[in-house]
Amino acid sequence: MSAVQSPMMDSLLRHMIELTGQRDHNLLDVAIISAVHEMLEASQVRVLDIVPSEEGDMLRPRAWIRHGEVMAQDDSGQPVAGGTPMSGYPVLIDCLAQRLNRIEETRADGEHVLWVPLWQGDKAPACLQIFSTAPFAASTLNMMEGILSVYRNYQNLLEYSERDSLTGLLNRRTFDDKFSRMVSFNRAADEEQAQSLERRHPGDLEGQWLAVVDIDHFKRVNDQYGHLYGDEVLILVANLLRSSFRTQDRVFRFGGEEFVVLLCSVSLTDARNAFERFRANIEAHYFPQVGTVTVSLGFVAITDETPVVVLGHADQALYYGKSNGRNQVCFYDELVEQGLLQSGVVNADAEFFFDDANDDQMR
Ligand code: GH3
Ligand code: MG
Ligand code: MG
Repeated sequence: MSAVQSPMMDSLLRHMIELTGQRDHNLLDVAIISAVHEMLEASQVRVLDIVPSEEGDMLRPRAWIRHGEVMAQDDSGQPVAGGTPMSGYPVLIDCLAQRLNRIEETRADGEHVLWVPLWQGDKAPACLQIFSTAPFAASTLNMMEGILSVYRNYQNLLEYSERDSLTGLLNRRTFDDKFSRMVSFNRAADEEQAQSLERRHPGDLEGQWLAVVDIDHFKRVNDQYGHLYGDEVLILVANLLRSSFRTQDRVFRFGGEEFVVLLCSVSLTDARNAFERFRANIEAHYFPQVGTVTVSLGFVAITDETPVVVLGHADQALYYGKSNGRNQVCFYDELVEQGLLQSGVVNADAEFFFDDANDDQMR
């Protein structure tokens, strides 16, 4: 290794260690833009999501570093309003159309801008936009490609570790983290809204909701049609979960045939309607060979209680639904109010979220 290369190699190694030490997507973004910023001596680096919309693709900054200052959007699932239409960036459009790894443009004011799509197969869900006052040197660009490959591989690994292998939904390991991020971020926004809403419309107040979903008599599906058909039902139910809720909501497979949904910033009426719509979607769906399947849901308003307590309450509501006909949506707070459930008593059957060994039991 030559003496000239050595500081560059040191820096590359340092950035790779930094990147692969992250367990959080935001921090991973920050690590990659810091690395690119330093290696290319850029004045500004941004990660932009490329988001399809009815008006065409939009560019939305997700994290950026400028004059040494790092900013990252909170991973709350909250959509960032607006964005910039990609139609204003013909050079990027060209780059994507030609499937290039990067493209450089020099603006009228002499500033150099490098666009780097973050390809995932034949799609680029995001890109880097790198600004510099000087042209980019070929040797540093090659280094950047190297570290971007490490970033992409590592991001795929991180994503893989968060997903359930059968359904592709978020797995239980990620629940506590996603729960606290989403709740703390949205609660601040909801409190602001609560102050501006008049008292006589308490039903319109937005909040966060958690539902536990359990397939009814799923054991019978396995017993009657076999495990492969059972798995097929789980995959189809997961797809219906994904399509029935908004992108900012979160859906987890908690184990076996149990799922958890987190809804953010909706009123009680809208939450109930969303859960009810999902229940009806399942009931109306034709499952190949198996025919009809139903689900029961228990849901609860998310409060300051710990995730385990909130889950326990949703589970109590679920088991109330199970003992009272199944194929229904039950609201914990309402059942307690009506005296049908005792507050604070966690159902003895609610062991599923304490038992990690259950996670991959059937795969
Ligand atoms: P209930 O309406 O009370 O929920 O009845 P149930 O039969 O759905 O509930 P139970 O908990 O008795 O059965 C769940 C079954 O789910 C038992 C197990 O065989 C099956 N199961 C769990 N994980 C998987 C999986 O990954 N694939 C398949 N095919 N079956 C699974
Ligand atoms: Mg179950
Ligand atoms: Mg079940």
